[in-house]
Amino acid sequence: MQFRKIRLTGFKSFVDPTELIIEPGLTGIVGPNGCGKSNLVEAIRWVMGETSAKQMRGGEMNDVIFGGTSNKPARNIAEVGVLMDNSARRAPVGFNEHLELEITRRIERDKGSAYRVNGKEVRARDVQLLFADASTGARSPGLVSQGRIGSIINAKPSDRRMLLEEAAGIIGLHSRRHEAELR
Ligand code: ATP
Ligand code: MG
Repeated sequence: MQFRKIRLTGFKSFVDPTELIIEPGLTGIVGPNGCGKSNLVEAIRWVMGETSAKQMRGGEMNDVIFGGTSNKPARNIAEVGVLMDNSARRAPVGFNEHLELEITRRIERDKGSAYRVNGKEVRARDVQLLFADASTGARSPGLVSQGRIGSIINAKPSDRRMLLEEAAGIIGLHSRRHEAELR
């Protein structure tokens, strides 16, 4: 599956609705310090089901909601949506009849997150598995945060194995096996 579009509203510094079209061949996003480049990557991480506020550089998950500036009041809702191209039909069973999938995550202050795929409410886990099957995800080694290169170089072999397993597309299978064993 390929990312085609990302929509953000009230997410971190993206207070007003913003839409970004991800064209094939996009290699970089440039801009001055503090303009929101890392926030964009975090939005992608977040919509894929990140559960750790720390990974989002916050103290709690509410911190992803626009917190206000001297001339704009804080918001109570943040929403991020990504449009995925599923023309290669790589989405898991249950989602694979769609040529395009729009995955959204919405958080309301103090009320937690809700996820939808093409408008239908799903569990966080469904979204996490969907991206795991597409060889990516919030914890994907393909998403390297500022300052994380060192930790990958110094990782234990077992942690580094995750990189290979993701490339092989078997992370979702591991996760499902674990769930089956718990039952
Ligand atoms: P650099 O080049 O320094 O890495 P960057 O383009 O990656 O910068 P970001 O870290 O994405 O910048 O954006 C930082 C900006 O986002 C800061 O100005 C910060 O105040 C703002 N910001 C982060 N969270 C929120 C929030 N919840 N509400 C409002 N603004 C926020
Ligand atoms: Mg940055």
